[in-house]
Amino acid sequence: MSLTAEISKRKTFGIISHPDAGKTTLTEKLLLFGGAIKTAGAVKSNKIDRHATSDFMEIEKQRGISVATSVMGFDYKDRRINLLDTPGHQDFAEDTYRTLTAVDSVVLVVDCVKGVEIQTEKLMEVCRMRKTPVMVFINKLDREGQDPYDLLDEIEAKLDIKVRPLSWPISMGKTFKGVYSLYEKKLKLFKASKQQLDKENDISIEDINDPVLDELIGERYAETLREDVELVDGGYPEFDIETYRSGEVAPVFFGSAVNNFGVQELLDCFIDIAPGPAPRYTEERQILPEESKFSGFVFKIHANMDPKHRNRIAFVRVCAGQFSRGSTYYHSRLDKKFRYSNATAFMAQSKEVIDEAYPGDIVGLYDTGNLKIGDTLSEGEKGMYKGIPSFSPEIFREVVNMDAMKTKQLEKGLTQLMDEGVAQLFTYEMGARKVVGTVGALQFEVIQHRLLHEYGATCRFMPMNLFKACWFSSTDKKKLDEFIDSKYRHIAKDKDGKLVFMAESKAWLQMVQDNFPEIEFHFTSEF
Ligand code: GDP
Repeated sequence: MSLTAEISKRKTFGIISHPDAGKTTLTEKLLLFGGAIKTAGAVKSNKIDRHATSDFMEIEKQRGISVATSVMGFDYKDRRINLLDTPGHQDFAEDTYRTLTAVDSVVLVVDCVKGVEIQTEKLMEVCRMRKTPVMVFINKLDREGQDPYDLLDEIEAKLDIKVRPLSWPISMGKTFKGVYSLYEKKLKLFKASKQQLDKENDISIEDINDPVLDELIGERYAETLREDVELVDGGYPEFDIETYRSGEVAPVFFGSAVNNFGVQELLDCFIDIAPGPAPRYTEERQILPEESKFSGFVFKIHANMDPKHRNRIAFVRVCAGQFSRGSTYYHSRLDKKFRYSNATAFMAQSKEVIDEAYPGDIVGLYDTGNLKIGDTLSEGEKGMYKGIPSFSPEIFREVVNMDAMKTKQLEKGLTQLMDEGVAQLFTYEMGARKVVGTVGALQFEVIQHRLLHEYGATCRFMPMNLFKACWFSSTDKKKLDEFIDSKYRHIAKDKDGKLVFMAESKAWLQMVQDNFPEIEFHFTSEF
């Protein structure tokens, strides 16, 4: 098959949701449709419970599970679908953000009872930043949820995106009858079933005024549905694939993942409309997937489960050309060539050695420490892919070495864990104090545990009163130097050696911003 044919077969996406909305359940049903798994219950949630935070065995187990389910490839109707898993737990939000850089679109799951939850808002911000096309699946219609119009309004308001329903629910909860697909003009009657995979309940209803509708769902529900369809078609602009693909409008489907209801409709529409591998940008130029030379970037690093062999798996998103196992590729940051003979593909629930991969695919490369998040591999072209920003962490703690004999191990451990993207390390210019910043408290436990078990280093984390780490810039070199001089004690370096201003409080940051109007402050590392 030609490169263009391979590219046009591929759809790479991620499912995002607030924990418990049904991401795992939906993933599993999609895999069932793809024939990638045979029975329900095969997909393990990578969820980490709040109360399991101190249970390190649990964390270890989770790490194992999450590598297995990180990328699930499956074939469906002549398409190769790559589904990238994202951790729902908010402490791992950074991991999710990075995964989103490797997808071409997103399916967002919303619980119809709970509506838009806080984690969803944060994740959607990232999608909006990158203009990632989003499809919405409103889940758990078998429960008494919120009114569908209210849900749609809430999504528009809280997630700052326009919606366009492509299906409409007929009642919900105990009286849930099914959905009418506006996309396919079909009625799908609901039958609670956890395994059902056929389309026996599909009834094509081209004309919503067809009296058959009354027979099927009863006059009362049929009338309401007719009114709703009229309202929806009248109230929302006609669905337009371009506005979806540019990230402006999110098509919405209703269903119940656990009952496998509405899932196939979502999938069928997805393979119709979801974008294939998109062009990506390096510091120098735009790179098209069709280009003959391979290039890709690392968006995730997973430490191996065996602490004695510190090899890791780097997840590489193929952006252009063909990746071939055993080839030698150019590592842009290190300006060196490496041979990767041990590449794996990720098919659902299994890792298999692959010989080649195409744009949209994710390959796993075994690595002993040369690769870190954001690294670019190519056939020789210099320049790194853009788009994996670091965000200002929320919690900061100073690292205190507790075992002077193991200083080297601590340094090494910290560097490697930061390369994996577990947290961010900031080193103060003054005194070389090391500060670890994370999105959630859980990471500190993970880091401490892993430093001890994988590197034999012991450390303590001292709470620090910091509000944000801000990257900064200015077009005025003189003012920039002045600023650095005057705030020397509060300036640290991030992992790439970029300077950051460590702001102690919101009020203080505001004051500094007012005092240095020529300096721009940024909350992400890419600006
Ligand atoms: P995740 O945290 O987003 O991965 O959510 P899960 O897929 O683990 O689902 C959370 C809970 O919601 C589980 O107990 C599921 O069985 C349940 N669930 C998922 N889909 C549905 C649904 O359509 N209806 C109902 N009533 N429960 C569901």
